[in-house]
Amino acid sequence: MSGRTLLVGGISGAHDPLLAAALRGLGVDAQPVGVPDGASLATGRSLLARGHCNPTYYLAGALVERLRREPLGPAERGARFAHLTAGSCGPCRFATYAAEYRRAISAAGLGPVPVVVIDQLAPQATAALAAIGVRLDARLLVTLGRAAIAGDALVRAGCEARPLARDPAAVDAAITRARTAIEERLAKRQALGPALAAMRQEIAVLQRAPARTLLRVRLCGEFFAAHTDGPGGYGLVRWLEERGCIVTAPVVAEWLAYLAWQARTDAARRLDLYAPDPGPRGLLGKDGPSLIRRARTVERGVGALYRRLARTAGVRAPLLDMDDLAALADPHYRSDLRAGMGHLEVGTYLAIDGDRSADLVVSVKPFGCLPSSAVSDGVLPVLARRGRVGYVAVETTGDAEAIVESRLELALERARV
Ligand code: SF4
Repeated sequence: MSGRTLLVGGISGAHDPLLAAALRGLGVDAQPVGVPDGASLATGRSLLARGHCNPTYYLAGALVERLRREPLGPAERGARFAHLTAGSCGPCRFATYAAEYRRAISAAGLGPVPVVVIDQLAPQATAALAAIGVRLDARLLVTLGRAAIAGDALVRAGCEARPLARDPAAVDAAITRARTAIEERLAKRQALGPALAAMRQEIAVLQRAPARTLLRVRLCGEFFAAHTDGPGGYGLVRWLEERGCIVTAPVVAEWLAYLAWQARTDAARRLDLYAPDPGPRGLLGKDGPSLIRRARTVERGVGALYRRLARTAGVRAPLLDMDDLAALADPHYRSDLRAGMGHLEVGTYLAIDGDRSADLVVSVKPFGCLPSSAVSDGVLPVLARRGRVGYVAVETTGDAEAIVESRLELALERARV
């Protein structure tokens, strides 16, 4: 124990408290940062240079706002708090986030608060993690993964139940109770099933036949914009539900499966090299076949856990299969390209167009997101012209809600027709 409180989060109001509770269950004091809002965006923009994609501003701003709420001097704040976050070496601007968080904390005069990164592509123990009391091992990763996937089950349960409920607010209340129960269970390292099963039973008695045909919408896009339930994603799920849609939201489990799929397929391609290559993804000094087996085990484990928790919560939406998505996307956008969500959006649209499991696919990205712009504005509109399922891409800037809403209204109308 370092005696510090770790601030974690940045996914959604369902996921973040569960991640903090999971850490508490491992003996690390942790709290969620809080869902970024309009004030977070303004704070982030005031402290950082121009030119970042907007999740940087939202997340840095939320962290600064959270730290400012502690009535401590800079030195004491630096000794009592740290920010634990996921990161990667790139290739998109996600690589710069941790440096920008540090810059924002420093520019706000909040003291030497450590920002410590777990590399999402190659998690490994570091001195910085040890210094804030985090022992990075398989137990930590499994516990955090379990918390994130429980958050997925809550999000999807809400999406599937609210449009069919007599009183959507009662569904939200049941989900909030379940989230609190799961937090307690994670903190005590207990099974999560009973909390999800109780929620399913509560929600079941609230259901009724819908008064009108619901439009089925699949949400996809850049990770932050598609997952956050704050203004960073314009609250799209609720907005669509108010207009007669039933939404399938993206889930963190798909991202975790994608990371494992990347490790597996990158290693498999490298097995054919004349000599093992160095670098973070290289096989020099590593056992390639065993790395592939481990990555496959993680991918299968994520899928199995999602299916178990989703079934217990009464969620019907499946997890998309990573090999299927790559096979669908590859003729149009190479699956070995790495940035943002890679080929996932292309694969998702084509999978949904193939089985008609939605009437409309909405891709959401932050303003300034280069990888998602290439896919959602460049590749997908061409494919969607040949497809049977509607498609629209929207961009979040934090201050163009009316433009986004009018584009969506038009897309919903076309999908209904
Ligand atoms: S995917 Fe886009 S918005 Fe997200 S970090 Fe990369 S460039 Fe920024």
